[in-house]
Amino acid sequence: MDKYIDIKENIEEIRKTTDGKATLLLATKCVDADRINYAISCGITHIGENKVNELLEKYEKIDRDKVELHFIGHLQRNKVKYIVDKVDMIQSVDSIRLAEEIEKECAKKNITMPILAEINVGYEESKSGIAPEETEDFLLSLSKYPHLKVKGLMAIPPASDDKNIIIENFKKMSQIYLDIKNKMLDNIDMDILSIGMSDDYKEAVMNGSTMVRIGSRVFGRRNYNV
Ligand SMILES: *Cc1c(COP(=O)(O)O)cnc(C)c1O
Repeated sequence: MDKYIDIKENIEEIRKTTDGKATLLLATKCVDADRINYAISCGITHIGENKVNELLEKYEKIDRDKVELHFIGHLQRNKVKYIVDKVDMIQSVDSIRLAEEIEKECAKKNITMPILAEINVGYEESKSGIAPEETEDFLLSLSKYPHLKVKGLMAIPPASDDKNIIIENFKKMSQIYLDIKNKMLDNIDMDILSIGMSDDYKEAVMNGSTMVRIGSRVFGRRNYNV
């Protein structure tokens, strides 16, 4: 397995920053099952896929007993039924209609799905997610569904060359997360703040992230054509 030695080294490098502060989830889109399983053998406990078809293709090949599998991408309602019995968490719940669909499919299969609410912290039209000031109302709605379990928040802040802007958005997310956590609302756990990716995970961890989602910094540049 020495051909994958860089994966191990990259994980160790990131661990120096995240250890004890934030969970390291590897974003495994475009990464084949062999490389994912190698990362799991290096002690990775959380992976995230962001396309339903790709997740289903790899599902049987992944060493799943040692790892939590999260869904982190935009989820279409008509595909919910394919994944609710396969993933340990859906991080990208961005509308009530999607939540209703997850509730319906989980009820059928008698399972409870841990979820994160996706917040569109930068108000970007190109991104889905809830406006920051609507977070609490959205969570209160989610908390009414018997087969959903709110565990926290996720965000993908706008890309920027200016680290100060990135940090501002992380701080904003952290503030929303802590405000809600302090209210101790019924049936709403604030255990996970999922922010930070390859280029900004250090800033995310310094500003309150409890889970970073990292792809290219571990697996190298993605080739979307394979
Ligand atoms: C791909 C992806 C990541 C990781 O991106 P990198 O920049 O490669 O670390 C994180 N979160 C989501 C939702 C992703 O789709």
